[in-house]
Amino acid sequence: MTRPLSVDALVVGGGATGAGLLRDLARRGLHALLVEKGDLGSGTSGRYHGLLHSGGRYVVEDAAAARECIAENRVLRRIAPACIEDTGGYFVATPDDPDDYLERFPGACEAAGVPCDDVPAARLRAREPALNPAIRRAFRVPDASLEPWQLIEANIIDARSRGADAWPYHRVVAMNRSGGRILGVDVVDVRSGSVTTVLPRIVVSAAGAWAGRVAALAGVRLAMTPGKGTMLIFNQRMTDTVINRCHKPDDGDIMVPVHSVAILGTTEQNVEDPDVYGIGRDEVALLMVEGAKLFPDLPRMRLLRAYAGVRPLYKEERPKEADDGRAISRAHVVIDHARDGVDNLVSIVGGKLTTYRLMAEQTADVVCTKLGVTAPSTTAGDVLPNQGDGRTYWLGHRLAEHEATGGGDANLICECEMLTRPAVEQFLDERWPCSLDDVRRGTRLGMGPCQGGFCTFRAAGLVAERGAAAASGAGAGEAPAAQAVADGWARSDRALVDFLAERFRGTRPIAWGRQLQELWVTSGLYSGVLGIGSLVDRAGEGAAEGASTPADAASMPAGAAAPARRKGGNDAPG
Ligand SMILES: Cc1cc2nc3c(=O)[nH]c(=O)nc-3n(C[C@H](O)[C@H](O)[C@H](O)COP(=O)(O)OP(=O)(O)OC[C@H]3O[C@@H](n4cnc5c(N)ncnc54)[C@H](O)[C@@H]3O)c2cc1C
Repeated sequence: MTRPLSVDALVVGGGATGAGLLRDLARRGLHALLVEKGDLGSGTSGRYHGLLHSGGRYVVEDAAAARECIAENRVLRRIAPACIEDTGGYFVATPDDPDDYLERFPGACEAAGVPCDDVPAARLRAREPALNPAIRRAFRVPDASLEPWQLIEANIIDARSRGADAWPYHRVVAMNRSGGRILGVDVVDVRSGSVTTVLPRIVVSAAGAWAGRVAALAGVRLAMTPGKGTMLIFNQRMTDTVINRCHKPDDGDIMVPVHSVAILGTTEQNVEDPDVYGIGRDEVALLMVEGAKLFPDLPRMRLLRAYAGVRPLYKEERPKEADDGRAISRAHVVIDHARDGVDNLVSIVGGKLTTYRLMAEQTADVVCTKLGVTAPSTTAGDVLPNQGDGRTYWLGHRLAEHEATGGGDANLICECEMLTRPAVEQFLDERWPCSLDDVRRGTRLGMGPCQGGFCTFRAAGLVAERGAAAASGAGAGEAPAAQAVADGWARSDRALVDFLAERFRGTRPIAWGRQLQELWVTSGLYSGVLGIGSLVDRAGEGAAEGASTPADAASMPAGAAAPARRKGGNDAPG
């Protein structure tokens, strides 16, 4: 047990909303601490579709949400350009889409302030030749793709520069309440097991789909309805722009180009528990059928993996007139739990990643009012750290950087993502201690077409070296003790097996055709050449749970893959 720590605000949850909230509170002069039970961005923010909404998907059904999206789309382009690829987007009418929706769409865009140009379908097809030739109408909107982990990190860096702190791998496990106030919050370091009691003036829950559980620790009922969405990742960008069906949003009707891949989504299914869900073959089949209405060659393209995230949907149980929480829009709600008899607990629920900053600002407004702080939010005006020269991201940037420093293969750890050894080393310098999965989120290691097949063992070696050096206390260039080396390699074995198990879990539901061939290659590499079987034995429990080794996944007959079900869901985008 460490010494109690006093803070003004304790933020629970290190997704986009929590990170944005930490930044906002720190910039208003509050001493704030964020705790996240996993890595930063390992919840829904790291498992979403990757779309920076223009608002087009909501204009017809929910104009208020559309207005928020386009306003925040503009703000994020200004403050976080390096996190955005300005792909542009289209709403297209296939022969299956209803005429009445199509007729209403441009007017609804105008009413919601979403820029929308009617583009000749032939011109769009010339730009995106893989599109269905039967597409009869197309509208251009300012959709884009948005990188979540870089965005979260930039918010955290800004907050830290103003005295705030963020603790990944720290879970809130208990709240000590006296009457209407939370006095102390127990936070456990999940890696070491040590517990810190935080003494906050206020607790702010940005725990997304887990917000109900966090509120329950304070004895408050908050009914969340977690909504699982499944997405499919293809090994190529069959489109360089976001393509949406022009109809009421539904399953499998949007393709988003994200870095070197394209992601088709989503489905929508309520789940009881945000930590336990599977991906069924029926969902994969549904997505493929619907996706082929946009891109007829889809069934012949190679699928890389399936993954899922859980929407933090909030089910309002109280009659509207009894709701003294602040209903901001249909999209997200800030709840002051004074309404439930706890004066210093606030939750932010619902929403989208596109509107994370606005959600954070509105939540911080409530927090500041309660704490008597009058400083206004400044998060919309000031550019986030690490945004380079202010230009948006472009796909070729890593290749250009690599070539500028001499190019060649020698330093490449991950060829698909053009990730070099110095880049991995720099990440380890900044983020140690971390797992291979943390390296993946921070650098995109293993997220390209080979899905970690050819880069994982190289990166595992770097992580193991770092682990051995850290365990022995050896400085740079010094030789670590033999036992420390052995410990480091044992940890590395486990990290490697866990990482591979996670990667291959996401390929199970889509193991057929050319991807099955790729799995056989990777399986041969890890099971044959590298003898992963012996690591599985040595790495023990973690490996046993992750029985979906490359060999498992590849040895399943095409189309016979079992639904992937695990605690924690399937995986993150890319
Ligand atoms: C399938 C799908 C597709 C989507 N696509 C889009 C899209 O294209 N564009 C868009 O704008 N939005 C999209 N969204 C919505 C968007 O992803 C979410 O609204 C957003 O990521 C939620 O962020 P958050 O920070 O509120 O929650 P999260 O990112 O889930 O963060 C909450 C965090 O709280 C942590 N936590 C929980 N309990 C505890 C505890 N006891 N102690 C410490 N930490 C705890 C969790 O580990 C988690 O990391 C999509 C959502 C889904 C599910």
